[in-house]
Amino acid sequence: MMVKSAAKYIVLLGPPGAGKGTQAQIISKEMNLAHVSSGDIFRENLKQETELGKLAQTFMRRGELVPDDVTIAMIQERLTRPDCQAGALLDGFPRTPAQAEALSKMLAKWGAEVNLVPYIFVDANILIERLSGRWTCPVCGLVYHEKYNPPITPGICDNDGAVLYQRDDDKPETVKRRIDVYLTQTAPLIEYYRLKGLLVEIDGTLSIDQVAKNILAAIEEKVAN
Ligand code: ADP
Ligand code: ADP
Repeated sequence: MMVKSAAKYIVLLGPPGAGKGTQAQIISKEMNLAHVSSGDIFRENLKQETELGKLAQTFMRRGELVPDDVTIAMIQERLTRPDCQAGALLDGFPRTPAQAEALSKMLAKWGAEVNLVPYIFVDANILIERLSGRWTCPVCGLVYHEKYNPPITPGICDNDGAVLYQRDDDKPETVKRRIDVYLTQTAPLIEYYRLKGLLVEIDGTLSIDQVAKNILAAIEEKVAN
């Protein structure tokens, strides 16, 4: 029998605006686990104007998913970097059944597996309010909300003093499209992971701190050390 790797892989699942990025930042720090955000990697490529960035931009601008093959290759490369030796907290990947299958195949090759899938659920009307008030730091990626999680000085990142910006794809029309795309292409992963016994449901309408506590408690209870 193959010895299972001690590396841990936790997948944060939930609609756009549920709080995956916010929670990933808290939990990765708390657990000392690499935070792998597919959206952040695409945005970084966009900024650097790489070929991948140029390709991703046409999809991101419309609120559509970037094709599976390039997304999977990008994540596979990211997960082989040294900071992922102990595993990773995945935020925004997988987003389709094909991505989920590819993830489990690549982890199996390394003698590892997905250990837990916290599914953060929030009503659609709340998502729109969250995304329209979201402000992001272009330097460190910290995420704020003008009402629910404001920076100390309006418009300025607490961490590094950079001027915060609003994401292009957080405009109301694009947000609607992203939620539709989530419902058709990503929501099937809820049942997929439930059937594997990996899903834990997390109420995403609670405070940021309470949501973090609930996710950490689920990890503590269900993921062996
Ligand atoms: P996702 O990565 O799932 O799209 P984010 O973490 O970027 O979501 O959060 C979306 C917006 O909602 C951000 O502005 C964030 O500050 C805010 N937010 C996140 N969690 C909560 C919460 N529990 N209560 C209120 N606002 C939240
Ligand atoms: P949010 O945090 O609001 O859920 P993300 O930052 O995760 O948004 O993603 C932004 C955009 O990047 C998506 O709308 C999509 O175009 C692209 N993207 C991110 N992750 C994936 C993925 N796993 N598969 C395909 N496209 C993705």
